[in-house]
Formats: sequence, C-alpha cells, structure tokens
Amino acid sequence: MPWLQHKRVGAADVYSLTDGLFRLDGGSMFGSVPKVLWEKVAPADEDNRIQLRSNPLLIQLGGRNILVDTGFWDRGGEKFDQMYAVERDETTFRGLGELGLSPDDIHYVINTHLHFDHCGRNTSLLGEPTFQNARHIVQRQELHDATHPHERSRASYIPETFVPVMEADLFDVVEGETEIVPGVKVLPLPGHNLGQQGVVLESEGEVLVYTADLLATTAHAPYPYVMGFDLYPVTCLETRKKYLPQWHEQHAIICTPHDPNVAFARLVEGRRGYTLEKMEE
Ligand SMILES: [Zn+2]
Repeated sequence: MPWLQHKRVGAADVYSLTDGLFRLDGGSMFGSVPKVLWEKVAPADEDNRIQLRSNPLLIQLGGRNILVDTGFWDRGGEKFDQMYAVERDETTFRGLGELGLSPDDIHYVINTHLHFDHCGRNTSLLGEPTFQNARHIVQRQELHDATHPHERSRASYIPETFVPVMEADLFDVVEGETEIVPGVKVLPLPGHNLGQQGVVLESEGEVLVYTADLLATTAHAPYPYVMGFDLYPVTCLETRKKYLPQWHEQHAIICTPHDPNVAFARLVEGRRGYTLEKMEE
C-alpha cells in the first residue's frame, strides 16, 4: 500500500505524504524512559536505532495548497545517509505528483522548524528554493536560532536548506499564534527547541493537529516520553500539559512527523494518561 493517505476534515482534504524512512538512536528518542519500556513500542536495531519516517502533510482548503514540512535532507552524501539509515522508498514529490501537483502549485510551505529532517526539501539539487511560488511560514525565534546555532543545536541545522529561501525573500516570518488562511493556523509548541510551531486545521467543527516534534511519533504521547533531543525538556512537558487535554477534548485528528506506520491518530485517555491510537482507514 502506498503511503499517501487521505482524510477529509470538514471542507479540507488532508494528505499524509512521506519523504522516506530513517533511523535515530532509540535512547535519544525517548530521553529518560528506560529501554525496557520503549523497545516494546519501538524495537531497536543492532546499532540501537529505531525506525522513523519523515511525514510532511498537504492541506487543501479554499483552493490553497499548504505543505507542512517538506522532507528529509537529500544531499548529505553516502556517509550521512548511512548514519541515518535513509531509505527513500517514497518522496514528497512523488506524493504531490500522484495528486497532480508540482512544487510550483504550493501556495504555502509551513516550516514547523528548520531541522534538516523537516525542511530538507526546501531547496533543490541546484541549491535553489524548491517551492518558488510559496510563502514559507517560520517563527521569528526559529529563524534566529537556525542562523545562530550553538554546539548543542548545530548538527540539526543545514544552512543550505533555509539560506536560499531567505535570499529569495520567500519567508513570511511570524511571531506566535498566526492564521495562515481561514481555518489554518500555526501554534508555537516550544520544548523541542524554542521556535517550533505546530499546525491546527479547523473546518466545520472538525480539528486536525500536526504536532511537529512535540509528539514525534504515536509512541511519544505519554507525558514523560520526552526526547533526549529536546533542548528544553521541562518546557516540552508544559506544552504537552497545555495542549493534549485540549486536543483530546476537541477529538482532534493527530498527525505526527515521524511515525513509521501511522498517518492519522487520536488521543485516548487512560489510567496512566494519554496514548495515541491509529484511526481506522
Ligand atoms: Zn524531527
């Protein structure tokens, strides 16, 4: 079955795309959670890495094509691809192509943040912006942090993925919660870093949330399942406590950026807090 998966949300059509598989260290992905617990939900390979996926999202609403995240950096070379066990079984572009769309048809790119596994396809092999007709939405904080990295954040930022977009003046820099088109807004979700934003779609009483790395996969829903990669783990916890009850209450469809198997999920409340359960197709 191809990854391209569809949900109707009110008046919007939403497609979960994929830019392929990769792997990261399981311990880093689950922070202080012991391996005996996390490996039940995310089995590790011989290098202790777990399977992840890069899952951009396409929202079509009111005649506008909105791409949320663009995919995984594809110009790192053989060593880079090996380190992350990259498998490009599908790409963002093939997914768009199946829908009859080319990069020129995208009106908005929402960069949840500028880590290379989220904005990797912002630029083409020629080093130019891929989505030439799109306004690229980014938080001011994130653009600042990406252009002023420190020793703990530098490995996540690859300037070739965002500097050409800056130079072509295609960024719309926003601060805080901002409506992009009626029914689609970006929402700051600090913790993974300071400038990360999620996306909330609300149409005809239905709600869908793209969580960015606040919830990297469906396995990350329990409050303490905060990543070692998160720069501000307690902030991440506070952001979760602020929004998960709200999204649960709204019966929101939840899309995570890295689940290897699940495109659309819902929050379920249990004795020990929240989990994410795959929605019926
Ligand atoms: Zn990520």
